[in-house]
Amino acid sequence: MNNSYWQNGSHRLKWTLIIVLLIAVTAFAGWGIYKLPAPLVDRMLQTDILKQAELWKRRVVLHLENPESTLRTGEIDEHDAEFLASMPEASDVYRFKLFDTAGRVIWSTRPEEVGSMENRAFFRSDVARGLVHYIQEVVPLSEIDGLDLHTDNVQNAIQHNVAEVFMPVTKNGRFLGAVEFYTDISDLRATFITRLRISLAILSGIAVLALCIVSFVTYRTNRFQVRALHKQSAKERDLMAEQIRLAREVRLLGELNEWLQSSRSLDELFDMVSRFMTHILPEAEGSVYVYSNSRDVLDGCASWNAGTHKAHIHPEGCWGLRRGRTYEYGASEIDFVCEHAEPHDGRPYFCFPILAHGETVGLLHLRAHEHKGEAFHASKKLAQLCAEQISMAIANVQMRDQLHDQSVRDPLTGLFNRRHMTETLRKSITRSQQTGARLSLVAVDVDHFKKFNDTHGHDAGDMVLRAVGSALEQGCDRDEVACRIGGEEFMLILPDNAPEDAVTRAEQIRQAVEAVSVRYGEKSLPRIAISVGVSHYPAHGTMPQDLMRAADDALYTAKDKGRNQVQVAGTEASAAREAKAAPKQVPKAVPPAPAA
Ligand code: GH3
Ligand code: MG
Ligand code: MG
Repeated sequence: MNNSYWQNGSHRLKWTLIIVLLIAVTAFAGWGIYKLPAPLVDRMLQTDILKQAELWKRRVVLHLENPESTLRTGEIDEHDAEFLASMPEASDVYRFKLFDTAGRVIWSTRPEEVGSMENRAFFRSDVARGLVHYIQEVVPLSEIDGLDLHTDNVQNAIQHNVAEVFMPVTKNGRFLGAVEFYTDISDLRATFITRLRISLAILSGIAVLALCIVSFVTYRTNRFQVRALHKQSAKERDLMAEQIRLAREVRLLGELNEWLQSSRSLDELFDMVSRFMTHILPEAEGSVYVYSNSRDVLDGCASWNAGTHKAHIHPEGCWGLRRGRTYEYGASEIDFVCEHAEPHDGRPYFCFPILAHGETVGLLHLRAHEHKGEAFHASKKLAQLCAEQISMAIANVQMRDQLHDQSVRDPLTGLFNRRHMTETLRKSITRSQQTGARLSLVAVDVDHFKKFNDTHGHDAGDMVLRAVGSALEQGCDRDEVACRIGGEEFMLILPDNAPEDAVTRAEQIRQAVEAVSVRYGEKSLPRIAISVGVSHYPAHGTMPQDLMRAADDALYTAKDKGRNQVQVAGTEASAAREAKAAPKQVPKAVPPAPAA
């Protein structure tokens, strides 16, 4: 990351420098076109003219018969004079002169100048010492020889640039004299300027073009980089959002687990599931089904997030339950709709079988909300995790229920045991005390059961006890509770019954038991009868043991009166109990035999 930052930085610096350079070149070229520095052109011209002057000088010196003596004496023969006179026509020189060492003109294209002296200081200081002297000046047209001067005055007035070059002639380092050339450089200067301007214009054009290309490339590169950066930051944003979402899901799952573990009943558990699932999977509606005790159907237990559940569904109607694994509708090309998902509008859904200890105990059904299919499919893993947690929680609650059941139920008949009975009776009395509700207690004992057992065997006796238990249970309504106190003794708690109704119910139950017929192997066992004692709250007591004792007393009365009947507690019943108890106490009261 850092590396690429620096790479990008050096890249950017490089391109910036190039752009600055190109702008500088363009600016310079543009400035040069309009404000060409005259010294530059003049310097170039000087170099050029000096080269030519060297050639002209050589030509002059080479053509002279005896240059040394000519320059020294100033005598020029006819042949030399003819050559010198032709020089302006054969070169760009329009005027030239020959000097002796003292600076006297010994020959000139202007004969009137012969004999005059060159008195300017540079002749002695430079030329006489073998140095070339160059002068550039502006002169009127009339100063230039060889032109037709009889044209109009305006033309004469035009200024011309001329170069005046003093070329020393030396031999073995000895100054022999000098030659001065005049040449008109106006055209050359104008050409130089034009060429320079064209060159600068081309350079400027190239620089502008390069600037455009570089700017374009830089802009494109920057745009790509910006786009890449945008993409990168969007990716990072998505990643961050994903992590936040995951963290939230993990947190919610943890909370769900904690809550579910603390639920005491399935109802409470499903309430928690409904609330959590609405938060964890907001894009799905859901429902939970749990197998009924008979295991032939599943009962609808809860639904959430606008979902609904049916009262019962058949396990064969669900592809998840039938195949024993998660069923995802809408994930493949060909799908079949589960029976319980009807009516179906095409929205995708999941069916998670709820497993506990290797056994399927229910079904978690989730269906996507309208237009939330994509998010719904993406949440499959999370939904699976939820299903697993719900499975575990259901298993826990069911196991707890089972353990509780085992502690309060009698294993032979499935009725509540004595412990649960006393507990329930205590609660019922408290309730009646608070609300004034009626309450009756019914004690039941099978008549002559010892004999029955002895005659038909213990197993047959058990079957009869089971049949009696189920008859008693069927005889109970709503909050009424049937219990097996022990052996062949039972008790029923009948809340909200008027005393006379309770007696009627007891009589009905007695008749129901009398009608019970039990088949044992090939034969039908003889019918059995029960004796029943009834006590009422608060008439026969306000404490559980009082009510139980009163019902028991009534039961003894029934036994005494010939069995197979119902007796209500009362003074008569109490007396009967006491009478029954009395003979047992007699021996204790009798003193030991005198024989002893
Ligand atoms: P009564 O009419 O006076 O009640 O006579 P009874 O024979 O029913 O009374 P008793 O209390 O003398 O005998 C109760 C018998 O119930 C004794 C026992 O053999 C039988 N019994 C107790 N518990 C069970 C049980 O769990 N299974 C079976 N098969 N018999 C039991
Ligand atoms: Mg008994
Ligand atoms: Mg009995």
